Order: sequence, then C-alpha cells, then structure tokens
Amino acid sequence: VSRDNVKVDDIHFGPDGLVPVVVQDAQTGAVLMQAYADRAAIEHALTTRQGTYFSRSRSQQWIKGLTSGHVQHIESIHLDCDGDSVLYRVQQSGPACHTGEYSCFYRPLLLQTDEILNPQALNPQSLGDTLERVYATITERLRTLPEQSYVARLHAGGLDRVLKKISEEAGEVLLAAKNGDKAELATETADLLFHTFFALAEVGVTPGDVARVLEEREGKSGLKGPKEIG
Ligand code: AMP
Ligand code: ZN
Ligand code: ZN
Ligand code: ZN
Repeated sequence: VSRDNVKVDDIHFGPDGLVPVVVQDAQTGAVLMQAYADRAAIEHALTTRQGTYFSRSRSQQWIKGLTSGHVQHIESIHLDCDGDSVLYRVQQSGPACHTGEYSCFYRPLLLQTDEILNPQALNPQSLGDTLERVYATITERLRTLPEQSYVARLHAGGLDRVLKKISEEAGEVLLAAKNGDKAELATETADLLFHTFFALAEVGVTPGDVARVLEEREGKSGLKGPKEIG
C-alpha cells in the first residue's frame, strides 16, 4: 500500500461500519482522545476540517465541541499501515476531555518506576505555550505595577538584582541536576525560566525572538558546540 493517493476507500471500517480514530495534539504531540468514525464522519471531517466522529452511545454523528465549545481544527488525517485505524492531528481549543482534562488519558494504570508523581508529567502542557502566557502576565504586570505583585517588586528592586537572582537559580539548577533530584530540578528550572523571562520583558526581547534563534538551529544536528552557544 503506497503513501500516495490515499482515499476514504482505503479505510477498513469494521463490521459495525466504524473505524477507531486516534486524536493527537498537532502542537504538543500528546494523544488527546480516541473515538470512532463512520464513513460519513470521515467525509465531514475531510470537507470541514472539524473533528467529526460517530458517537456509539448516542448512535449519531458527533462534531466535537458543538456543545462544549472545545472544538478541534484538523490539520491532517492519516491512515495506519493496514487502514484499520485513523489519526487526526488537531489544533484543540480548550480541553479535549469532557471531564475538563487536557487529554482523556489522565488515568495511569502503570507508571514508569521513577515517574515524578505530578499531574503535569502525566498530562503535559506545551512549555512554549506556558512560557508565552507567563511572559504576557509579566509584561502586563510591568505595565500596571499592582502593589502586591512579585513582578512589580522585582521591577522596583532593579534589573541588576534580578540578573543576580538568575545566576543564583542557575546554580540551583546545577545542584539539583548533580543530585539527580527530579522534582527539585523541575522546580529550579521553572525559577530560572521565570526570572530569565522577567529579564527578557524588561529588556524588550520577546519569546518569539528566542524561538526564532532555536528554530534556526533546529535541523543543524551534528554541529558540535555551535559557536553561538557558550
Ligand atoms: P463536546 O463535543 O465537547 O461538545 O461534548 C459533547 C459530549 O460528547 C460530552 O458531553 C460527552 O458526552 C462527549 N464527549 C466530549 N468529549 C469527549 C471525549 N474526549 N471522549 C468521550 N466523550 C466525549
Ligand atoms: Zn492497523
Ligand atoms: Zn475524556
Ligand atoms: Zn530556585
């Protein structure tokens, strides 16, 4: 079976007329949910790019998000090797799960033995999205300088003091890594990123500026220690 000219006819619907659909967050790669589609649902998904399924409990077509507003914009649809399973890669608005969880797969049955037991690890958010929200909050606080705000206090203390704080946090990251303390390493990295993003906001560098540099380096694997680094 070739990768070209894949058609709806290549889908092997089961005896009940349904095919399982795995739904993936196109941005984070996380598996969001699994549902079923009949031929009409697939056709609807193809023409509208809306996450469309067949609800087995309600025996009717189901456009995800019609009642919750948590819609899915389909970026691409893929069949597996033998055509008995379909993948939707989507931009999910809001949580994919009707319980309000980011992904339906938030119930661990077996964990890696040394898995950090925090829900974020099981149900990851995109670090990029989170950092962008944090950055937006920092710039908003710098504009309004609310009295009880930590950002406002950092601002009042002056940039030099924050820069010193960044190097202290970097030292804490280093220690946590050396000790192999996973929870501590995650916490200290968060501290380091927060204070670094504060400095970015103060100086007027955006997350997008940083992303551009990282993306430029992507695909240049094998560069041993590019000279910009260090
Ligand atoms: P929605 O399509 O998000 O408006 O949700 C409508 C209904 O579909 C919900 O009340 C649930 O019964 C069901 N539903 C929504 N999301 C999921 C999901 N990820 N997995 C299973 N059922 C869901
Ligand atoms: Zn298969
Ligand atoms: Zn769910
Ligand atoms: Zn710290």
